[in-house]
Amino acid sequence: MNENPFTASVFAESDVGKRRTEKDDSYRHSSETKIFVTPSDVIEYLFCPRFLYFMHVLKIEQHEHKRILVNKGRDIHALKMVTNKDYLRKKIGCVDKEIDVYLTSEKLKLVGRIDEVLFLEDDLAAPLDYKYAFWEGNIYKTHKIQQTLYALLIEENFRKKVQKAYLVYVRSKNHLEEIVISQIMKSEALKIIEDIFDILNVNYFPAATKYQNKCLDCTYRNLC
Ligand code: SF4
Repeated sequence: MNENPFTASVFAESDVGKRRTEKDDSYRHSSETKIFVTPSDVIEYLFCPRFLYFMHVLKIEQHEHKRILVNKGRDIHALKMVTNKDYLRKKIGCVDKEIDVYLTSEKLKLVGRIDEVLFLEDDLAAPLDYKYAFWEGNIYKTHKIQQTLYALLIEENFRKKVQKAYLVYVRSKNHLEEIVISQIMKSEALKIIEDIFDILNVNYFPAATKYQNKCLDCTYRNLC
């Protein structure tokens, strides 16, 4: 499975479209100590912790062509936000919603921008994210963790329990997938935030990814 966030197939998806928002940057390195983790950090960490180190500790930029792909993703993101998807929300049992929601948590040291926060019956809530991708029969781990982080942000900001998240695969006729957000997933996501802070603030040099195929098209392969 290709989970490289720095190749076109995954870059075309909406989460990568949100990789470098102005809001992200304002939380990033205004001083030497990082204050908040963003979903972009988590995507990079899950690709390879060492990638995160090269990019944000050593601050070695990726090649310019990668940015073009980022911009493409951002445009698609803007476009899809205006598309009416009420029938999908109805399918989920949504009673109310907020669109394009930017949330922060001082406690979790986390920020995130969620395509939609859905309010469900039984006082529950759920994140919904659009992926500009085809449904391939499985959900990437990066997307599961990303949705788990959104779930944590929603729980804290809206004081509602989150047990599920939803992904819409735009290129497969808006195929809808449900993710069950378990306590184990929440603990794993919190541990990832902790690890990211260790890399970025303590400058801990992480091990290389065990999946060597990821190195083949990694920007930093000549340095690593
Ligand atoms: S070359 Fe491989 S180990 Fe090194 S940063 Fe890239 S993906 Fe990670």
